[in-house]
Amino acid sequence: MTTETIQFDALGLAAPLLKAVQETGYTSPTPIQAKAIPLALQGLDLMAGAQTGTGKTAAFTLPILQKLLPFASSSTSPAKHPIRALVLTPTRELAIQVEESVKVYAKHTSLKSLVVFGGVDIKTQTPHLKTGVEILVATPGRLLDHVEQKTLNLGQVQILVLDEADRMLDMGFMPDLKRILALLPKQRQNLMFSATFSNEIKKLADEFLSNPTLIEVARSNATAENVTQKVYLVEQSKKQALLTQLLKAGDNKQVIVFTKTKITAGRLSRALQKEGIAAESIHGDKSQKERLEALDAFKAGKITALVATDVAARGLDISDLPMVINYEIPSAPEDYVHRIGRTGRAGASGVAISLVCEEEEKYLAEIEKLIKRSIDKEKAHISATARKPTNHAAREHANNDDAIDSNRAKYPAKPRQHTRKPSADPWFDKPYEPTKNNADNTKNLSGINRKVPIAALLGGLRTSKQAG
Ligand code: AMP
Repeated sequence: MTTETIQFDALGLAAPLLKAVQETGYTSPTPIQAKAIPLALQGLDLMAGAQTGTGKTAAFTLPILQKLLPFASSSTSPAKHPIRALVLTPTRELAIQVEESVKVYAKHTSLKSLVVFGGVDIKTQTPHLKTGVEILVATPGRLLDHVEQKTLNLGQVQILVLDEADRMLDMGFMPDLKRILALLPKQRQNLMFSATFSNEIKKLADEFLSNPTLIEVARSNATAENVTQKVYLVEQSKKQALLTQLLKAGDNKQVIVFTKTKITAGRLSRALQKEGIAAESIHGDKSQKERLEALDAFKAGKITALVATDVAARGLDISDLPMVINYEIPSAPEDYVHRIGRTGRAGASGVAISLVCEEEEKYLAEIEKLIKRSIDKEKAHISATARKPTNHAAREHANNDDAIDSNRAKYPAKPRQHTRKPSADPWFDKPYEPTKNNADNTKNLSGINRKVPIAALLGGLRTSKQAG
């Protein structure tokens, strides 16, 4: 039987889990789920190559829940709920997202879960930990803070998940991981998920996994076939005008715009707002509340362009995003793969556009080497109408870098003092709602550059007329 024809009920999952899966509306397992779930249920260590968007969270959560079902207890005694599964993620956003999924799949069981991450008062997390949870999702630093404060005990962990392990290494978590692993029982199951398989990842696997089974659902470092990739060769000074042109022509479709630095992300989003584009930025200098607010607005379709750094955007479960734009291409080629993985999910078509100046061409060559293909390139044409106001805005902006932008709320935003419960992070509860009429992503590009036919721009996509 091929993985494509497997149904959830053939994976050996228990009834309460199947019920929860059915209620989510999934009809069949994704390839990573079909491969990982039976192996994980056998108790094997896994090293799985899968990006966010492949359904990897359910691929490790469902077997974890199944293995912990015999320990499920409705007792309120904390002693009956020791931490039995630990999921480590590189970012708080991913941690929140994973734990939300755990809750969804565990809803017909009495297994309890909790998420802990940095950037919020540790004291708010302690009482929840004290009540006892079987599944703890955590970022490494905050987990160690809790270990130091003796607010949790890892002595009964049976299953460890390292989610987005490559990113954890990139973010320098190796020393923290080593400390955490030393606190866990030696006898345990390890499940490692990574979008890329670098030599460092292989070393990590050798060190922490025991005779792991390798699972890959796509070629490592491959970019999705259904994502149309395009490079515009453009001078650095003209990038903003080109971006504005692309966004204005994009019929208000939603886009994540990637920058390399937090400073550029902040500046760019303010400059776009001045152009009348509903833009916001998410990056490491923003408070958790600000990041959640921006994501909330993006998911609700109130923001057209979410300007993000790699770290901030990592792991975001924003499905069906029609387009990503690399305002600056990343110097680490793997980041390009992560970035464009934001679009073209679950078989939908997506578009990934990169604005590349001369100094960045060397990074582009590295990316093409990694993805083993050449990306279609074209010299950008910036229309006079796009150039004029953008340059004006850029000048104005350059004189006023840190000023609070009076146009900040171009979109009909909720009041800045939002009324949401501060730590409940409900934005993950809401499904991403693409703006209306974006069923056909090719339409987004109609009018990007009216001098050039779209089919040529996109290397053979349908024209806007054909796309109808
Ligand atoms: P993940 O890679 O775990 O972040 O999942 C990406 C998205 O796929 C999430 O929105 C999941 O809810 C969704 N998903 C997970 N499993 C399935 C499935 N079997 N069928 C359809 N969608 C799924």
